[in-house]
Amino acid sequence: MSSVLFLGGCNFRCPFCHNRDLVLSPGGFEDIPLEYVVATFRKYKHWVDRVVVTGGEPTIHKSLFRLIGLLKREGMSVKLDTNGSNPSMVKGLVNDGLIDCIAMDVKGPLDRYPRWCDCEVDAGTIRESIEFIMGSGIDYHFRMTVVPFLHQEADVYTVAEELEGAKDLIIQTFRPDITLNPGYARVKPFSPDKMDKIKKNVADIMAGKGLKQAKSMRLDDLGVKKSDLGLYR
Ligand code: SF4
Repeated sequence: MSSVLFLGGCNFRCPFCHNRDLVLSPGGFEDIPLEYVVATFRKYKHWVDRVVVTGGEPTIHKSLFRLIGLLKREGMSVKLDTNGSNPSMVKGLVNDGLIDCIAMDVKGPLDRYPRWCDCEVDAGTIRESIEFIMGSGIDYHFRMTVVPFLHQEADVYTVAEELEGAKDLIIQTFRPDITLNPGYARVKPFSPDKMDKIKKNVADIMAGKGLKQAKSMRLDDLGVKKSDLGLYR
């Protein structure tokens, strides 16, 4: 049984993000004092012994060390969700023994990273996080949300190839219900059949079997016009 702590704010602006308010208006949420958070975990630790620290992007907060340190002191097992943009903090947290599991979202192939996040980002920092996590010795997952129109099918396979040697890449289906860029609410997710095919191909790549066929998705197939999406570039 785990609890999830959502920390407000993010340094990325992924157009498909479904935590729009948490990213854009974190001040609109109630502030919960750290002491209250810790006391609540202490009260319920006989049946909740794990916590997921997520966002937004947790690593934009310098106080993350203190928060997780206090949770660890309460005997909690901690999983960190991150976009990988702050490898220094990820290394510090792991090297201090504060993290038991880490899940990093990989937004797309490294050569066009600003496109996936709609902000300036040094892909070198993303690569640094990936390489550190893979060699860290702690449990980890890489995840990618597949967004039709933003990604072509071949982009997913490129990510899988860039993660060569990683234990897995979890493929997630895009959810258009709430999106940071409202234009993406009109983008239809790939069909379950297509997602199954993509997952199978990704599993083959991660297992070192290569890929027999990866077709690009044509815009016409998606039912979306380029002009619908203000941030397309
Ligand atoms: S999806 Fe992108 S914008 Fe949303 S919280 Fe994650 S990194 Fe930030």
